[in-house]
Amino acid sequence: MHNLKLHRKGLLFYCVSAALFCISSGCATSKSTLSDLLLDNQLIVTEVSQDAKRSDCDTLVITCIDYRFAVENQGFINETLGLKDNYDHISIPGSILNLINPETSDLVLSKFALSVRIHLVKRIVMISHKDCGGYGGSAAFGSELAEHETLCADLRKARDLFLEKYPTLEVNLFLESLVQEGNEIKVHFEKIL
Ligand SMILES: [Zn+2]
Repeated sequence: MHNLKLHRKGLLFYCVSAALFCISSGCATSKSTLSDLLLDNQLIVTEVSQDAKRSDCDTLVITCIDYRFAVENQGFINETLGLKDNYDHISIPGSILNLINPETSDLVLSKFALSVRIHLVKRIVMISHKDCGGYGGSAAFGSELAEHETLCADLRKARDLFLEKYPTLEVNLFLESLVQEGNEIKVHFEKIL
């Protein structure tokens, strides 16, 4: 668990600013709100694990930016894969889509490769997802089978690109999807070989 400590610097400025805001907006309370965090002159301090003092990490994780998967991705990476405090995380629209696009491949690979060179990662975890806006959503594929096959083929292409450049890396591929289970929507992770 992180301990969040909020330090307020420039208290006088804060109070004056808050008072002016209350006067101008007609608010009737001086209670702090979340939006206070956006005011200037505040320092937000979080504690990190001792492992953060390391100069390298074992794994680079590549995911799409899609907000629907963000929380589950963190749980999957930290807990299921056991990588807490031990990975670089790059989120890019479409996940590996721009890596396998010949027009952007070199640029994207060079950015991903920074993690390999600087943090000496030994393993890459690539996670793509169904209904990805980078691909135009599920509808762009015509069928569920076509979407699954295309996304799996793209993940394998991305793996080959990395292995061509860094043959000793371990590369793990996952395809995730939103699945309705009763009244709940769950994220399923499928390991792709
Ligand atoms: Zn996406």
